[in-house]
Amino acid sequence: RLPLKVFLEAVEQSSVAISITDASAQIIYANPAFERTTGYAPTEVLGHNESILSYKTTPRAVYQSMWAALSAHRPWSGRLVNRRKSGEPYIAELTITPVLDVDGSVTHYLGMHRDVTEVH
Ligand code: FAD
Repeated sequence: RLPLKVFLEAVEQSSVAISITDASAQIIYANPAFERTTGYAPTEVLGHNESILSYKTTPRAVYQSMWAALSAHRPWSGRLVNRRKSGEPYIAELTITPVLDVDGSVTHYLGMHRDVTEVH
């Protein structure tokens, strides 16, 4: 069986920005690539909703379809306009996966995103 430490190191060393939230989308974990991508150290975002990353230009319908999928316990993937701590916008290609307990209730969400802003 894979030791838990290896799971942790794999997530910590991933080049993909990874965050874990509680069931209300409040961040409880962020990996180093999350800090490199967003500019926020984990301690700065813990307890905040993931909406701290929103540039507030993504159409509301996108978030509605996101939450429709997540509420139905389906993963969601899409592109959002995010905002770094510096204020700079970037395009995030994001996948969110609901984490369920044995009763099938959502306990957490796993978020994984990459900066896919094209640099010309
Ligand atoms: P909100 O007030 O959050 O509402 C927008 C719409 O979503 C409304 O229709 C509302 O009813 C619905 N909604 C919101 N929360 C819930 C909920 N808990 N259950 C059911 N419906 C809900 N957003 C980003 O902009 N960038 C990100 O990188 C990003 N990453 C995320 C990663 C994870 C793991 C999760 C769980 C969410 C992420 N979000 C991200 C979504 C974020 O939590 C917000 O819902 C979103 O930013 C919109 O915020 P808002 O304050 O504008 O609107």
